[in-house]
Amino acid sequence: MLTDEYVKRVYAQVEQRDGDQPEFLQAVREVFETIQPVVEKHPEYEKAGVLERLVEPERIVKFRVAWVDDEGKVQVNRGYRVQFNSAIGPYKGGLRFHPTVNEGVIKFLGFEQILKNSLTTLPMGGGKGGSDFNPKGRSDGEVMRFCQAFMTELCRHIGQFTDVPAGDINVGGREIGYLFGQYKRIRDEYSGVLTGKGLEFGGSLARTEATGYGVCYYTAEALRVLRGDSFEGKTVVISGSGNVAIYAAQKAEQLGAKVVTMSDSNGYVYDPDGIKVDVVKQIKEVERGRIKEYAERVPGAEYHEGCSGVWTVKCDIALPCATQNEIDGASAEALVAGGCTVVVEGANMPSTPEAIEVYQKNGLLYGPAKAANAGGVAVSGLEMSQNSYRLSWTFDEVDAKLKSIMETIVAESLAAAKEYGHEGDLMLGANAAGFVKVANAMVAQGVL
Ligand code: NDP
Repeated sequence: MLTDEYVKRVYAQVEQRDGDQPEFLQAVREVFETIQPVVEKHPEYEKAGVLERLVEPERIVKFRVAWVDDEGKVQVNRGYRVQFNSAIGPYKGGLRFHPTVNEGVIKFLGFEQILKNSLTTLPMGGGKGGSDFNPKGRSDGEVMRFCQAFMTELCRHIGQFTDVPAGDINVGGREIGYLFGQYKRIRDEYSGVLTGKGLEFGGSLARTEATGYGVCYYTAEALRVLRGDSFEGKTVVISGSGNVAIYAAQKAEQLGAKVVTMSDSNGYVYDPDGIKVDVVKQIKEVERGRIKEYAERVPGAEYHEGCSGVWTVKCDIALPCATQNEIDGASAEALVAGGCTVVVEGANMPSTPEAIEVYQKNGLLYGPAKAANAGGVAVSGLEMSQNSYRLSWTFDEVDAKLKSIMETIVAESLAAAKEYGHEGDLMLGANAAGFVKVANAMVAQGVL
């Protein structure tokens, strides 16, 4: 509920201006509902118009991406880059290639990114970008030509000190390689302008694993501090079978849990003996196939059509790692009915507001995306540092820094939750801790 007058007024303005961007409104509302005690304690934020400025991107670039497919036909997609907030560092955030991408989706992701990046403790502002290009069924050559066309325009707006994009849905190592190559060719500059690069050309060890591993480090720490518990012996349900899902599954298993499901946009697999992550990696990372093939290869595993059924599988811990709004109120009720007491978000905004209400009503341990999945961008920040130093840290060094950052995020979220009178509330704490740092920087830098 919005109760604070200043917060209500700014939210009404956002509704009026951006009423056609439901995901953006959802992200803003969730943050506004939780930062009211912070705004009430800091009247200087209203005086400096912090909220009005926070919800308005510093810049949005929207552009045509024309490219030629394998049949020689001209294809036209839309490209976007939202440079949301640079108060604490250069814009930083991934690129998503998916047919559902539009300005509102990129704005919701960019807005979340501001507070997420702040939570990592590293100096990174918030940004996000992408295209409605659908890489499914496209050849390597088509993906390369699309990436080159996309970067031909994007390269005017980014740079190692300005804006440093990375991957997101459907943008992995292959796409980052093509994007980096085109940037280098056009700008004649070899710099850390993108993160998630290949290890041969400036990438960081442990970046591929970082988001999924980070989700588990965060979950393990929250379980330890709030419940004196761990992953050991727990049954875990994971959605998605992409970058975040695969490495969350791998780490959860290393920490002693049994992961029993993974999914894609067609359906999910259930393996009562525990998902064999190497089989999923072969299907998804090497063959770019469908999760259905897992059940064809692993005896005892079942495949079910449709995505929402995954939340009806009995578990102790759920890690949604696919996409936004994948858990609605009914799916959240199904999780609770199946014994789930922990939901930690690997994907961005995977829970609808109704789902979050169900978690809260039933006392679940709920780890919100902008805190729990910050490990990816945190290691991207470490990749930027290594590029600047012109050296590479070992896997173990990066992994140790990642673990420490995730533990700090839990500690800072809990400290902020306590300070603002909501002890134990990881969502309020994450929003408050992330917001205060950005707000103070905005006040200090004057009206921009
Ligand atoms: P990938 O493209 O590697 O994987 C995405 C997975 O989610 C695939 O299994 C995909 O299935 C599934 N998926 C995508 N859209 C839908 C949909 N509409 N319904 C059901 N399933 C869907 O992406 P990532 O793993 O990188 O990203 C997953 C989530 O994590 C996103 O929300 C992203 O924003 C977030 N995230 C990613 C970070 C990173 O470092 N990569 C960092 C922080 C957050 P299919 O193959 O059928 O499309």
